[in-house]
Amino acid sequence: MAAIGDKMRKALNEQVKWELYSSYLYLSMSAYFSSINLPGFTHWMKVQAQEELLHAMMIYDYIVEREGRIELLGIEKPPFEWDSPLQVAEEVYAHEQKVTGMINNLVDLAYLEKDHASLSMLQWFIEEQVEEESNAKGIVEKLKMVSDDGGMGVLYMLDRDLELRPPKLQETS
Ligand code: MG
Repeated sequence: MAAIGDKMRKALNEQVKWELYSSYLYLSMSAYFSSINLPGFTHWMKVQAQEELLHAMMIYDYIVEREGRIELLGIEKPPFEWDSPLQVAEEVYAHEQKVTGMINNLVDLAYLEKDHASLSMLQWFIEEQVEEESNAKGIVEKLKMVSDDGGMGVLYMLDRDLELRPPKLQETS
């Protein structure tokens, strides 16, 4: 197979940065939850941060495999404070929607470049984004119930639920 084209390489190289930024953002959110004593949310966001690191490495490894040169880019400082768990969840959801847009753009480029290998690699990410958005939306909805409820009971139960999320060590087998 021919080495990856330069346009595709640059775009995927940029996506490595965004996956790493996602990991950085979610780690910052995990630290926030830790600071407000919500161990379940802390754990959930930390697992999420690890997943994003795996996403970055999947694309990184793919570029290398296609004989493309990796050029690591600067990663922005993520936000540090939030007003509430609901605000964090809404930001996660908005961020995942943004990432979905980026993945879709990469797919569009792969079509344009007739790069079938990249198209195939990106299929996994399309499915993953459906799951990511759905998970984030689910937490937003549950946290809205906390606000409606006015009490902390729902928040406490949700925190207990989130603590059960198993760590994902491997994305593909
Ligand atoms: Mg990701």
